[in-house]
This record gives sequence, C-alpha cells and structure tokens, in this order.
Amino acid sequence: SRALMAGKRGVIMGVANNRSIAWGIAKALQTHGAELALTYQGEALKKRVEPLAEELGAIVAGHCDVNDPASIDAVFDGLKDTWGTIDFVVHAIAYSDKNELTGRYVDTSPENFTSSLFISCYSLTAITQRAEKLMPNGGSILTLTYYGAEKVMPHYNVMGVAKAALEASVRYLAADLGPSGIRVNAISAGPIKTLAASGIGDFRYILKWNEYNAPMRQTVTPDEVGDSALYLLSDLSRGVTGEIHHVDSGYHVVGMKAVDAPDI
Ligand code: NAD
Repeated sequence: SRALMAGKRGVIMGVANNRSIAWGIAKALQTHGAELALTYQGEALKKRVEPLAEELGAIVAGHCDVNDPASIDAVFDGLKDTWGTIDFVVHAIAYSDKNELTGRYVDTSPENFTSSLFISCYSLTAITQRAEKLMPNGGSILTLTYYGAEKVMPHYNVMGVAKAALEASVRYLAADLGPSGIRVNAISAGPIKTLAASGIGDFRYILKWNEYNAPMRQTVTPDEVGDSALYLLSDLSRGVTGEIHHVDSGYHVVGMKAVDAPDI
C-alpha cells in the first residue's frame, strides 16, 4: 500500500533538539514517506539539527532566523533550486524574553511586545508568502499554538496575546490561500517540557495541573502531536482549513478542576 506522505516534500522550521515538538512532527512525517528539509536558527543549533536531519535522511535547508528576512528568502530559494516545488511547511517558532513570561501581563514592555508578536505571529505570514510561490499545486501549512490564546494561563502573558493573533492569522491566511488549494491550520498542543517551555514560570506546576485535570489524565508528547500533524499535512485533511485542532488530552473542554485531582 502507498505511504500516506509518499511523493510529498516539505520544510520543518523549529527543530532545536530531540525534545522539540517539530522533531516529533518530523519523525511522524518521515515514517509515512515524506521527504523533509529542516532549518535551524543560528550556529549553536546547527550542531544539534545536522545529526537529527541525518537520522531522517532529511536535507538541511540552512539557517533561518525570522528576524532576518534574507535568511527566510535564502531557505525558500534553496528549496526552489533543490526541489522546485513543496507540499507542506511546519512553522514551530515562538519567542519572548523570559523575564516577561512571569509576573503580570500588564507589565509587558513595548519592545518585547513588538518582538514577541513579530517572531511568534508575523513569521507565519512571512513564511507563507514565500511558501505560496513554491506550492503551484496546493499544499498544507501548519503552525503550533497554545490554549493561552483562548484563556488566561499563569505567566503565559504576552505569548498568549501573540498566540491569539497567530490563530487569527491562520484564519485570514486560510481564506486568502484557499482558492489556490493551500490549507493553513494550527495544532493547539497541551504543555510539553521543551526548551521554549522552560522559559515559562512554574512550568512544572502547569504540567501537573494538566495531567491531573485533562479528561485523559495525562499530558501529551511530541510524538502524539506529530501523529495529529500527519493528518493535517496529508490529504486525509483535504477538506480542512483555518482550523485550530487541540491535541491536549482534552484539557480545553474542561470547565473545572477534577474532583479526584490531588493537590500539587
Ligand atoms: P523548542 O524550543 O524546541 O522550539 C522552539 C523553536 O523556535 C526553536 O527551534 C527555535 O530555534 C525557534 N525560534 C525561536 N526564535 C526564532 C527566530 N527568531 N527565528 C527562527 N526560529 C526561532 O520548543 P517547542 O515547545 O517545541 O516550540 C515549538 C512551537 O510549539 C512554538 O510555537 C511553541 O509556542 C509551540 N507550543 C509549545 C507548547 C509546549 O508546551 N512546549 C505547547 C503549545 C505550543
């Protein structure tokens, strides 16, 4: 039988190490026959991403820092030279100064607000602009968001506002690109211990709270997010765009602490 992702090629942006959500997605896609290209942010991460790419037989598509539009152009120019066209993009990029992922949202500085929204939200649009040109036959674009976009979560602060804007961007991009057969969706992942998450205050408490109160009484893994990403990046979801799909053990449907939840 033909593999789900056979004949599909795409770029994964946001692998930092083997705990990254983007790495869970990359493994799931490769297992199902996709050809992958990975980007890395800066020399420090290059050393980590190169061996991971090799593990999956993936191309290293080079350095990409979304603060530097020339580096985004270079990645997509390179993909055009190597492959001509692409079928999917994974955007797993977010950043805020960690000093503002604690305390009160009201104390957010204008500098960190601007930079967090630019890196964590505008970059999806910047990347989609380039990807569209390499998707003449349609495609699927996926980003990662969090429940802090919908409801106030402790310490998530400016990142919650950035994710709300990111989720709105998914809908506007989906509307713009739908006529071209390009779908744009997001996975709203439950909390996972990654490099980015280590910047969020009291993250261990947040993980435990989710484990005790999610309907499935567990947190999610990058592999579980990866398997759901497979659906959104493959033709199985060909009727789906503009969607925010929760992969959070059901946490977002709950309205109150579970009666059986232990104290943390
Ligand atoms: P991670 O630290 O493994 O990945 C974050 C990535 O963002 C890194 O690869 C980093 O290089 C990249 N990045 C940051 N600034 C960048 C820039 N200027 N240019 C290019 N790349 C940049 O952490 P992760 O948790 O796997 O994060 C991936 C995505 O998942 C993020 O959007 C994050 O908000 C989202 N997410 C994470 C969780 C969680 O609990 N870990 C939950 C929901 C959503």
